Order: sequence, then structure tokens, then C-alpha cells
Amino acid sequence: MKVLISGASVAGPALAWWLRRHGITPTVVERAPAIRPGGQAIDVRGAALTVVERMGLLEPVRAARTRMRGSSMVDSDGNELWRSTEFAPSSGRFDSDDVELLREDLTALLAAHTAGVDHRFGDSIASLRQDDTGVDVQFAGGDRERFDLVVGADGLHSGVRRLAFGETPLQHLGSYVAVFTAGNVLGLDDWQVWVRSDSAGAGI
Ligand SMILES: Cc1cc2nc3c(=O)[nH]c(=O)nc-3n(C[C@H](O)[C@H](O)[C@H](O)COP(=O)(O)OP(=O)(O)OC[C@H]3O[C@@H](n4cnc5c(N)ncnc54)[C@H](O)[C@@H]3O)c2cc1C
Repeated sequence: MKVLISGASVAGPALAWWLRRHGITPTVVERAPAIRPGGQAIDVRGAALTVVERMGLLEPVRAARTRMRGSSMVDSDGNELWRSTEFAPSSGRFDSDDVELLREDLTALLAAHTAGVDHRFGDSIASLRQDDTGVDVQFAGGDRERFDLVVGADGLHSGVRRLAFGETPLQHLGSYVAVFTAGNVLGLDDWQVWVRSDSAGAGI
């Protein structure tokens, strides 16, 4: 069976690993020129813990955990409204089995675990034409190939979903998030500070 997976972040490589385990070596196409670094934290909890354990990755995933010590919330003048050494809003309770780790640490582990899978970086699916026996895929880079199955693991704004099902409206909830790296000007040590302004919430 020839399977094409679009997206090499979390879902794509995880599926590639499981397919290989069942005797299918998929192709993974990723728009970026390499596995993308960066991103925020990912929580591995619930069913995801079981999946990671069955993939033999629980130990390295646990070793990469963020190890937050606590969190606090301040108002826009810097006055502390509350603090907790028991939980952080991003990751939940510290005494649970859940693991919070940086997205790029998880994707690096998954990428190492799927070495040998045919990765096509810097390319994407331009068009899909499905018939009763398979899917003809036209890649943006010019290649054309036929697959038995195409899987969209290309994120919230999935290109595969748009090509297969047309525009599916996302409901915007009025929130915006910006994530970037900054110097440790607040002197934080594995500690989250959330800033609550009068009009809306904002976090670090
Ligand atoms: C600011 C922020 C904070 C977050 N915090 C948390 C958190 O604290 N805990 C938590 O559990 N989760 C968190 N998340 C969510 C988490 O990042 C996602 O759930 C997770 O990354 C989803 O993985 P994915 O593999 O489905 O898709 P994505 O990580 O979105 O990856 C999609 C991949 O597909 C590629 N791609 C996109 N379009 C195409 C295309 N047309 N062709 C080929 N490739 C394509 C992209 O380059 C990317 O590599 C956060 C997300 C954000 C944005």
C-alpha cells in the first residue's frame, strides 16, 4: 500500500511510525525545508501517553519535560494576583502523569524515530484527484505520483482538507497568540507569569 502523509510535525511522523510498524512505509511531504524548530509547549496526556509508551518513547519524552516549578498571575501594574506551585495554566497539575515538553523536542524525537521514511521537504500537494482505486497527487514541485491513501497531518489550516473537502470555515473566537523568544528580563526560573490586563488576558 502506498500512503502519502502531508505534514512532518507531530501527527505526521507518529502516523508514519505506526504505519511502518504494520509493514507500510509511507512518504511524508513537508512544506518546510526541514523539520520545523520552535513552537510552544505540547502536553502529552491521556491517550497520547499510551501512544507514546507503545512507541517506546515514554522515557525520552519524560526526560525532556519542561519541569515548571510554578506559575503566577500579575495585573498590568505587576501586582501579583495569585501564585501556585501546584499547577501551571499551560500544563495542568505538576503531580499528574502528564508530560509537558517543548514542541521542537517532541518533533525531534519523532523525527529520529522515523529515520528511513521517505521525507520530501520543501514540497507540498498542489492537487488531488481521487478515483475508485487511488489518488493522483500533483506536487507543487512538479512531481506527479499515485497513492492508495493520502492523509492530511498538516495542521489547523490543513491544505489536504481544503483540497479534499473545499473551504471548511473555521470559527474565529477573537483571541490572538504570539509566541517568540526573548531575553530573560524578568529573571524567571522555570516559572510562568501570566499578565492579566483589564480588557483581556495575556500570558507569558
Ligand atoms: C501558541 C501555541 C501554544 C500551544 N500550546 C500548547 C500546549 O501548551 N499544549 C499542547 O498540548 N498543545 C499546544 N499547542 C498545540 C500544538 O502545537 C498542536 O496541537 C500540535 O502542534 C498539532 O500537531 P500537528 O502535527 O497536528 O500539526 P502542526 O504541528 O500544526 O504541524 C503541521 C505540519 O504540516 C506542515 N504543513 C502545513 N501545511 C502544509 C502543506 N500544505 N503541505 C505540506 N506540509 C504542510 C507544517 O509546516 C507543519 O510541519 C499550542 C499551539 C500554539 C500555536
